[in-house]
Amino acid sequence: MRRAEILAIGSELLLGGRLDTNSLFLTDELAALGIEVRWKTIVGDDEADIMDAIRVAGRRAGLVVMTGGLGPTGDDLTREAVARVTGRPLRRHADTVKGMMQRLAARGRTPTAAQMKQALIPTGAAVLDNPVGSAPGFCLSWKTCQLIALPGVPAEAKAMFTKEATRFVAEPLQTRAQARIERRLLHTFGIVEADLDARVGPLAQSRRGVRLGLLASPLGVTVSLTVCGGSSEMAALEQAARAVREELGGLVYAEGTETMEDVVGRALTTRRMTLAVAESCTGGLIGHRLTQVPGSSNYLDRVLVCYSNAAKMELLDVPKMILARHGAVSPEVAAAMAKGVRERSRADVGLSVTGIAGPGGGTAQKPVGLVYVGFDARGAGLLAKEFRFHGPRDTIKLRASQAALNLLRQWLPLAQIHKT
Ligand code: ATP
Ligand code: MG
Repeated sequence: MRRAEILAIGSELLLGGRLDTNSLFLTDELAALGIEVRWKTIVGDDEADIMDAIRVAGRRAGLVVMTGGLGPTGDDLTREAVARVTGRPLRRHADTVKGMMQRLAARGRTPTAAQMKQALIPTGAAVLDNPVGSAPGFCLSWKTCQLIALPGVPAEAKAMFTKEATRFVAEPLQTRAQARIERRLLHTFGIVEADLDARVGPLAQSRRGVRLGLLASPLGVTVSLTVCGGSSEMAALEQAARAVREELGGLVYAEGTETMEDVVGRALTTRRMTLAVAESCTGGLIGHRLTQVPGSSNYLDRVLVCYSNAAKMELLDVPKMILARHGAVSPEVAAAMAKGVRERSRADVGLSVTGIAGPGGGTAQKPVGLVYVGFDARGAGLLAKEFRFHGPRDTIKLRASQAALNLLRQWLPLAQIHKT
């Protein structure tokens, strides 16, 4: 297995305004080629710093993929740094100059001195064409490592890597034993990290070569199982995934790239059921998530955001008495909201959320993070479920939206009984 380092170059990546997203897709692409990313480094637009970073990366990694700093401006210093570290002076690449002249001539212009800089390539390097921009990249062997330089603009880096660079990276692999990285992601909701670790840890660790990771987010905890190797490791991965699925049962709501809204949408589609939603504290987040799924118009009838008591009465027929007696954040109001939106819309299922997202507005009886999900389905009756979440406002909103969709997901397999 080759070990790679990604070197992201650009001061803007260190200033807090922009994230290094290039390394995310590069990691995926490299994994697919059987190359493991072991280090990521970010360095600013400083020639000495870039040279240091290249030296360090070149010592420990067999492959160094750089992005950024290939453009025409004064702060683009990657090619100079590579040339100086490797002792391969920059040379003008004739075909690149020709291509640039032709492109500019079509617009009645000639290259500026700054643009000409982009045609400078370290001696002995292979040129990587830029299918979507002007600056070419390059690839060269240096000591025990391979250096690849790609542009910083994400679309250019992506296109150049997949169209041009993979052949340089993939070649040496053919002479090695085929090894690849495979990963299974199982997304759970409703179980905390420590409990999950206690239940899943022993299952994963008993399988050879399977690495377990738990990734927590407001949407739940994802179990990540990874192997690196050949067919026996792949078999161990499948066994571990099966054991985890069996252990966790319905706590796993989705796998891989699937989301809760995908799963709920599919379940509604196969049952030919329609959904109407009434949201208070989530402010339309459930509606947004549901409508992110292509084809959601087949099952989503409407989403009403009813924030005030007046809106809950006017649009959902929540009785004034219930609001006065129990307060807007109560199981009674959640249930009435679900019933109201279902009856008004004549959808098969009504779903609602009401809660206290904080940071203010909590009391001893009704603390911040208290959320009720209401649910009403034809033939299934009315119910409301209480949740107590923690965290800042946006986390509570996300968790509330997830809890509501999860309740729907859990109920839908039972729905066939009710649907006529
Ligand atoms: P250009 O020809 O546009 O100057 P370049 O190869 O010199 O390209 P940079 O100047 O470093 O690249 O960056 C160009 C743009 O790409 C900037 O908007 C920068 O924020 C963005 N960018 C650079 N590196 C990354 C990265 N690792 N992840 C995401 N965006 C990046
Ligand atoms: Mg630049």
